[in-house]
Amino acid sequence: MGLLTIGAFARASRLSAKALRRYDELGLLRPARVDSYTGYRYYDETQLERARLVAWLRRIGMPLARIQDVCDLHASDAAAAARDIRAYWAQVEADTSARRDLAVFLVDQLSGKDTDTMSQLTAPLGFRYAARSDRGLVRETNQDAAYAGSRLIAVADGYGGRGAPASTAAIDALKPLQAEESGSTRVGDLLNALEDAVLRADTAVSGFAESGTTLTAMVWTGSQLALVHVGDTRAYVLRDGDFFQITHDHTVVQSMIDEGELSPEEAATHPQRALLLRALDGGGAAVRPDLRLHEARAGDRYLLCSDGLFTAVPDADVRRALATVADPEEAVTELVALAHRAGGPDNIACVVADVVRL
Ligand code: MG
Repeated sequence: MGLLTIGAFARASRLSAKALRRYDELGLLRPARVDSYTGYRYYDETQLERARLVAWLRRIGMPLARIQDVCDLHASDAAAAARDIRAYWAQVEADTSARRDLAVFLVDQLSGKDTDTMSQLTAPLGFRYAARSDRGLVRETNQDAAYAGSRLIAVADGYGGRGAPASTAAIDALKPLQAEESGSTRVGDLLNALEDAVLRADTAVSGFAESGTTLTAMVWTGSQLALVHVGDTRAYVLRDGDFFQITHDHTVVQSMIDEGELSPEEAATHPQRALLLRALDGGGAAVRPDLRLHEARAGDRYLLCSDGLFTAVPDADVRRALATVADPEEAVTELVALAHRAGGPDNIACVVADVVRL
C-alpha cells in the first residue's frame, strides 16, 4: 500500500495541504508517517475515506470538534455516525429558522415598518393571565413550574433528582426582565437582555447536579412578545379561531418528524418522545435557546404548557377549552382537569394569557 505525499493526498481528498496540517495538529487526521528529518507528512491511501468524510462534513459547516466525534463513530458504527449527522442538521435548520425570524424583525425595524407596533405603544396592550402547576395523579413530586405576571409568562419542566428547584430557578432568573423599562424598541438591547436572562437561568440550574429543565417563556416588550424556548415545553396561540403551536420541540422525535422518518401520530406514542436534544442543564454557552420576536395582537390568547398537558390531552380538546372558557383562571383549571381525566400521568404546567387593550 503506497504512501502519498501531502500534496497528492490533498488532491485526492479535496482538502488543502494547509487544512491537512491543521487537522494533524488537532488530532483529527494524523499522517501515517512523518519524516523525522524533513518533517514531511505522508498519508496512507486507506486514510482517504476518513479524509473525504472530513471534507464533506466541513462543507455542511460542521465544527471540527463535532467532525472528530462523527469520524470516530464512523470508524466503529456507520449508522451511529449517520444519526449524529442527522441530529446536527436538524439543529442547524432549527437555528436557521430562529435567525430568519430575527432577520425579518431587524429588516422591519430598520426600514420603518414598525410604525404599527409603535402606534400600539400609544394604545398599549397587556396581558390578562393565569398560571397553574399541578402534580398530576401519578408522580410523587411536582417538578413543573409555571408563572404569569404582567410582562412575563413562563413554564418549565424540570428533570433529574433536583428537577423541581431547577425549573423554579430557571423561571426566577427571567423575572428581572419584568422590572426593566417597558417599551424599549432597541432591538440590540432587547435581544441582549433576553440572551443574558437565559444564561442567568442556565447558571442557576448548573447548581443542581444531574438535573436540568426545559423553559418556554414570553416577555412583553411593549409592542411585541419576545419568545425564549429550550426543550419540549410549548407555546401555542389561539388567534381568530385558529389554534397553532409557535415553538418547535427540541426533541429526538421532533427531529425524526422533521426528517420525515416519523409521523406526528407515531411520535405521540414513541417510547423516546421525552428525549431532549436541548435543555438548560448548566451547559453555559452551549445552551442555544430559540429567541424569537412575535407580533402580538389584541384578542390573541397564548397557552404555555408542559408535556403533561399536550401528551395527555388531544389538541382538539385543548383548543375547545381555550375557545370556550373566557376567564384565564377558569381556563387553566379546565386544562388541568382535562389532564386529570386523561389519567394525569405527568406533572402539568400551564399558563393562559390574553392580549388585551389596557
Ligand atoms: Mg413533563
